Amino acid sequence: MAEREDLQDPCVREVIVIGGGIAGLSAAIYLGRAQRDTLVIDSGHSMAKWEPVVENFLGFPKGVAGEELLTNGKRQVERCEVKFARDEIKKVRREKNAFVLKGKRTYRARSLLLATGIFHLPPEIPGVKECLGHSMFFCKDCDGVRVRGKRIAICGANDEAVEYALGMLFYSSCVIVATNGEKPHWSRQHARWLKEYEIPVHTGRIVDVKHRRRKILALEFADDREVKIDNIFTTRGDVFHTELAEQLEAKLDREGQIKVDHCMRTSVPRLYAAGCVTPANCQMIIAAGQGAAAAQAINRDMFEESLRTHSLRRLREAQLEMEETVPEGA
Ligand SMILES: Cc1cc2nc3c(=O)[nH]c(=O)nc-3n(C[C@H](O)[C@H](O)[C@H](O)COP(=O)(O)OP(=O)(O)OC[C@H]3O[C@@H](n4cnc5c(N)ncnc54)[C@H](O)[C@@H]3O)c2cc1C
Repeated sequence: MAEREDLQDPCVREVIVIGGGIAGLSAAIYLGRAQRDTLVIDSGHSMAKWEPVVENFLGFPKGVAGEELLTNGKRQVERCEVKFARDEIKKVRREKNAFVLKGKRTYRARSLLLATGIFHLPPEIPGVKECLGHSMFFCKDCDGVRVRGKRIAICGANDEAVEYALGMLFYSSCVIVATNGEKPHWSRQHARWLKEYEIPVHTGRIVDVKHRRRKILALEFADDREVKIDNIFTTRGDVFHTELAEQLEAKLDREGQIKVDHCMRTSVPRLYAAGCVTPANCQMIIAAGQGAAAAQAINRDMFEESLRTHSLRRLREAQLEMEETVPEGA
């Protein structure tokens, strides 16, 4: 990689990526290959780890474990001379031309990419956590096809739960909605759809989920009723990891996701965001694509700035002084 210490304060990285999940790793590959001095800081909780077999990522006809995608991705990033730090960034602020990040250590970067992801809230049902990714799912686009012909319960009491139930009819005829004791707050239109499509609704509280070897067998309700099902989809909502964006006063949308333009620029100069923390459809291949798009924008913006500020000229001067710059015979 070209030496750039002459261009700037060596304590300031050109780019820091916060988040070493799918979006962050993909960005780091592009940034490293673009010869950008890049550091990825990651706290190690990518949602991809929860998926034992990813079946919808291009290039893996037999599927691939989410964990394996991350391990291979990290290896690929390391080949691009990008460094990693295991840390969780708690605070960020702007200082002159740099972002100052505080975790266990302090880091500085000229450009910052937030690829911090989200957290899907699991349903508040005892004993269901170990079925996550095996027979309890969050995403019909990822997992609908796996549950074809099965008995499916959609846990939720809002419009989204109803739409999930309707969407699941493409995969199975046996679909119920279970509100787990919550009063339904779906719209009248959604209530009409439930009626029209004859989807049973259970409003009782679920006290237990029977399961064996991570396979769900039945829901047990507070009134002792047992409903045999094979799979749960839950729509309790997501927590977006936007704390750092908020500290920098980046704009969020109504759902609480970081607003970005088509190049993944946020409303704050030199601050970019990619992956599920943005209004993306939260899929791995989309997160990877967004990471790549963000990296391309960062690289392009830095290149244009280096022309404006003549900092590229300083690199050129160093080259002219120390290296062969004219091909033999030219
Ligand atoms: C059970 C389950 C199954 C799924 N199955 C599929 C599937 O089959 N196909 C599919 O396409 N998608 C699937 N997904 C969704 C997929 O996991 C996400 O789309 C993908 O991981 C999003 O990538 P990301 O980079 O935005 O976030 P993540 O991969 O979650 O990465 C975010 C990273 O940022 C780090 N981080 C956050 N805050 C900080 C901080 N302050 N400091 C340092 N690091 C930080 C986290 O530790 C994490 O490593 C599934 C999700 C779940 C939960």
